[in-house]
Amino acid sequence: MIITNPPVAITDNLLLLGTTDYPIYLVYEGGDAAVVEGGVGACGPVLEQQLAKFGVGREMVKQIVVTHGHPDHVMAVPAFRRMFPGAHVLASQIAAATMANEKAIGFFTKIDGALTTWLLDKGAITESQKPQALAELKIAVDRILKEGDTVAVGGLKFNVIATPGHSDCSLSLFEPTQEIAIVADVTGFYMPATKTWWPMYFSDYGACMNSIRRLATLDAEVVCLSHNAVITGADEVKKYFEGAIASTEAYHKRIVDAVKGGKDPRALAGELGVEIHAQTGSLPVDFFQKNCSLLIKNSLKHEGIAVEK
Ligand SMILES: [Zn+2]
Repeated sequence: MIITNPPVAITDNLLLLGTTDYPIYLVYEGGDAAVVEGGVGACGPVLEQQLAKFGVGREMVKQIVVTHGHPDHVMAVPAFRRMFPGAHVLASQIAAATMANEKAIGFFTKIDGALTTWLLDKGAITESQKPQALAELKIAVDRILKEGDTVAVGGLKFNVIATPGHSDCSLSLFEPTQEIAIVADVTGFYMPATKTWWPMYFSDYGACMNSIRRLATLDAEVVCLSHNAVITGADEVKKYFEGAIASTEAYHKRIVDAVKGGKDPRALAGELGVEIHAQTGSLPVDFFQKNCSLLIKNSLKHEGIAVEK
């Protein structure tokens, strides 16, 4: 099944909260709970209203796990800290460094403002769910997570898996007894309506493919994506990963073939940016064009193709 509309209980231990575009996961067991994903700023007020509905006591939430240090994955963390006093914030070393960087968080604040407007305009949030301004341009992390660590939530034990490729700082989680995987953006931007992916290997194509393949071998029953959907059921999960692998490879090949065929990489970035912007207009077209130029750079680097500056 493909589940897209929060708030909804996915299993007895897992809630899909936040908004469809920016999901927040709440895992809980035995009176203990953790929030996974740091969302956009609006996820703070949204979560506040959703928690009451499911009767999750705020005192249960003892951990806030950040999958990676991108603007749409950390900006609600300060609000979560206020909501869950005493909860620890967990992230990779590289994500923690980004979150401590005032320049980075200043930039994230601008992106977050644009995303708030977009969510308001399309009715995904209400005026009362607009986020508060951050008190400081820093988001503190209390515990550094790395490959092989465990995040315990009651009797559940989430294994921390380094999944680089989308960013160097991306972490995924897997709970083997419940077969729940929470994957960072590494499997691509999945659009359930069309069952298509926009690959997002912003840091490295080869690392991204390795990370997707590794996540596929977990044989999860539930896969929580960083955007747009939760996939449940072994068959659906298998199909999801096959699709993610095939579409990432195809996008890479499309870029490499185009450039080998004489296409100017800058013109290609312009066209690919327009194409994805037409499918998700969350930010201005130049934002997507910049991201597409990163994909082109990483595809060409992977193939050892030099590009003139
Ligand atoms: Zn990301």
